[in-house]
Order: sequence, then C-alpha cells, then structure tokens
Amino acid sequence: MDSYVELFRASNSIEANAVKGMLEQQGILVRLLGEALGGAAGELPVDAQQIRLLVQRCHITKAQQIMVRYQQTMAPWQCVDCHEQNDGHFELCWNCGSEPVN
Ligand SMILES: [Zn+2]
Repeated sequence: MDSYVELFRASNSIEANAVKGMLEQQGILVRLLGEALGGAAGELPVDAQQIRLLVQRCHITKAQQIMVRYQQTMAPWQCVDCHEQNDGHFELCWNCGSEPVN
C-alpha cells in the first residue's frame, strides 16, 4: 500500500514546493500537509507556517539521499559585492541583486 511517511518540514510554502518539485523530478510522489495555511498568508508571519512533506514509504531512502544533497547545495553564501549572507536557495543576493561568484 502507499502509506506516506514524513520526510521533511519546510518552513514555508516556497521551500516546500521547491523540494516537492525536486523530488518529483526524481520520480518520487510528494504530499504536502499544512499548505492550506498558505491561504491566510496575508495575516500570518511566513515563519508561522510549517509544511510537512510526505513521501511514500518505498521511496523514503531515496528521498532522504536527495534531501542530503539538497541541504548541501543549500549552504549559505556570502555576496561579494555587499557581503550580505544569503540562503543557498537564493539565486541572487537578496540585498543588492548580485549573482554569487563560484
Ligand atoms: Zn549583495
């Protein structure tokens, strides 16, 4: 049977959907729990939302390996222009819009 187990807790729906898309590219079905809270996003601070990602039990090992790689690529980076710290998922500096230099 397709019982679902919790893989990960995302702090917001943007992160949850990013992870979901990444897993689905690998052929892993994902369910999100808690996303309904997003309907009240205008009233709640984003941090108050927590979204649980569930995957099928038969996919949990593969999904966990993908998450390890994901969290490695999410390492924060520092902007060379303004020296602000950026979360790894930012493609551009949140402060000045510069691209990370690798
Ligand atoms: Zn910057």
